[in-house]
Amino acid sequence: MNIYKSIPTPPNPDDMKPQGPVKLFDDLYFIGNKVVGSWVIPTSEGIVLIEASAEADHWEKVLKPGLDEIGLGSEKILALLLTHGHMDHYGGSDHIMRATGCDVCLSAVDAVYMNTRKKNIRTNKESGVSAPMITRIIAPGDELVFGDHVISVLDGAGHSPGCLNYSMEVHDNGEPHRFIMMGGYGVFGTFEWEDVQTSVMYALKFASTCVNAWEYAKAHNCDIFFNPHPHLCNMYQTAEENKNRKPGDPNAFVIGRDGVRQWIMERFDACMASVVEFSDIRKPFVEE
Ligand SMILES: [Zn+2]
Repeated sequence: MNIYKSIPTPPNPDDMKPQGPVKLFDDLYFIGNKVVGSWVIPTSEGIVLIEASAEADHWEKVLKPGLDEIGLGSEKILALLLTHGHMDHYGGSDHIMRATGCDVCLSAVDAVYMNTRKKNIRTNKESGVSAPMITRIIAPGDELVFGDHVISVLDGAGHSPGCLNYSMEVHDNGEPHRFIMMGGYGVFGTFEWEDVQTSVMYALKFASTCVNAWEYAKAHNCDIFFNPHPHLCNMYQTAEENKNRKPGDPNAFVIGRDGVRQWIMERFDACMASVVEFSDIRKPFVEE
């Protein structure tokens, strides 16, 4: 993978087939396909979800059957946290909310953005999905308490104007570790913003977000890195490595501070490369 790539190449259609639930930690699962899905956090009070996949019927077709399969089907769903207002993250929100009565949480900025954004991953017409109802506004700095788990909400702006990062302690055979999940991967440039100046501004904003994420990861000893998209953090490959684990072997998702630094640095470099790519300052001026 080209580390300077800001936006991933479109996924293979085969990667969009449901994969069945994957257990990552004692208290973290993923249910979806190789590109999109929901992160499932069982707490002492019920389940918290991060992300709602791309499809409107994600709940009934993939998520609920997956929860049944891992024995969590009758647990209360406490909340659905969204990282940002792009369709491939919120697609299943409305069905999840209607089926479970859970809160749907997002930043105020992206709650507005997703309703006003001109270009989304797919149009509402193509997908049958429109921007979902947000029942709880959350903001960077919030510490969301769900039973015995606390999810820290961090600023992830740049990929979208109000994108959020999340961090939480998870456990591996009882041993605590901490992940940082960066909500965004790169910046869309003029595809999204149409003018050069706004595109450059958001690329710089995301680079600055990477710096904040790294400061946070250092201060809180994050030793796991996630992107909401499994294919953008090697989630299925790493889960595969864990299948051959013997008692006492480390969990392959635990990559240490330097591993986390590597992922964040790649995103930083990609954003800085985007700043140069989007700008026309370096191109020779030709009078028209
Ligand atoms: Zn996005």
